[in-house]
Amino acid sequence: MHKIVRNTLRGALLAAVTLGVATLAPAQSPKLRIIAIGAHPDDCDEQFGGAAIKLARAGHRVKFLSVTNGDAGHQTIGGAALAKRRFLEAQESARRLGIAEYQVLDNHDGELLPTLEVRRQIIRAIREWKADIVLAPRPNDYHPDHRYTGVLVQDAAHLVIVPNVVTDTPALENNPIFLYYEDDFQKPAPFRPDVVVPIDDVYGQKVHALDAHVSQFYEWLPWTVHKLDSVPKDDKAREAWLAKGFHEDLTAAARKTLQEEIGNDAAAKIVDAESFELCEYGRRPTLTELRAMFPLN
Ligand SMILES: [Zn+2]
Repeated sequence: MHKIVRNTLRGALLAAVTLGVATLAPAQSPKLRIIAIGAHPDDCDEQFGGAAIKLARAGHRVKFLSVTNGDAGHQTIGGAALAKRRFLEAQESARRLGIAEYQVLDNHDGELLPTLEVRRQIIRAIREWKADIVLAPRPNDYHPDHRYTGVLVQDAAHLVIVPNVVTDTPALENNPIFLYYEDDFQKPAPFRPDVVVPIDDVYGQKVHALDAHVSQFYEWLPWTVHKLDSVPKDDKAREAWLAKGFHEDLTAAARKTLQEEIGNDAAAKIVDAESFELCEYGRRPTLTELRAMFPLN
């Protein structure tokens, strides 16, 4: 090929590539694969439901994983009957949230331990989902299942990229980002809201997903605090009651992060939000990179 032809071709190709980048880039923001892990088949919904709705709407793939089957969370039923009921509630919640999948592992509720067997289950789930982002509780919590779910995910954080561990499921090439859900425990350190997602625009939809967990929000949890009588009998009335009761004021720290993210005026108008802290294990993006992955308006 003559040099001049080659150069012309190269110029044309470069022009096409440049044009392609300029015209295609805005529509090609990478789609994330996110797995939210909780101890019970309603934990992810409570901690991450609003952000999950917004991420799923933006085209990202969101999966919830419950490490136990929830078979202890009721005052009158238990065992397989309760596990089945809660599985179906979780599936309905997933449908209302618009997420891709809600998996429930068949481990007993109230008896979770950070064993090698469960660690392998977690490693498999993170690998099979090819997760870019993994969410989990911090490993200090009043409930042992929450605490050990935090430990199990921390224990998996490095091993998901180690091919010689859990050899039946290919290791990830890149370590995911690991995030913690918000909690109000102060020891050994208070929660730090690194990214705060405003959810006012989807709060009703989140509560509607929580409303699918009838056994929890209208039966079991009110019973534990001797408030069963205060649950309205009518379906619509009880969902409104749940919407009111589930609201929590933003902490000062979360409000400060929101101000950094969207400015003081916009932050002042936000009523409900979900906050997440970057774990020290796994990939550690800058705060700017992390916040850019989430829908902040
Ligand atoms: Zn729980």
